[in-house]
Amino acid sequence: MKFSKYQKKVNETSNYSQNSKVILPAMWAAEETGEILHEIRQVLKDPSRSYDIEKITDEIGDLFICLSNLASDLEIDLDDVAEHSLEKLAERVLEQEKEGKGLPGD
Ligand SMILES: [Mg+2]
Repeated sequence: MKFSKYQKKVNETSNYSQNSKVILPAMWAAEETGEILHEIRQVLKDPSRSYDIEKITDEIGDLFICLSNLASDLEIDLDDVAEHSLEKLAERVLEQEKEGKGLPGD
């Protein structure tokens, strides 16, 4: 699915007031990120557990919705975000290769 198609579908279901635009989806994104971290922390606290992939998938989806709403409120097209992000990543990889370092995040 293209990001722009996803964004359009999310827009069709968005239901929060004009006054809450931008700040509400930004706050929800932080909250959903916390929910993802909570799930990861469960495994850090008890390494015998495995990641609850279904729960983490659900929380990543929640985060997608928040980010889609945030982008829409700011009139940012998610396809443009994805394209820009890949370009930025490619530049970082090139820079790190020039410097003889590992991949981003290493
Ligand atoms: Mg959630």
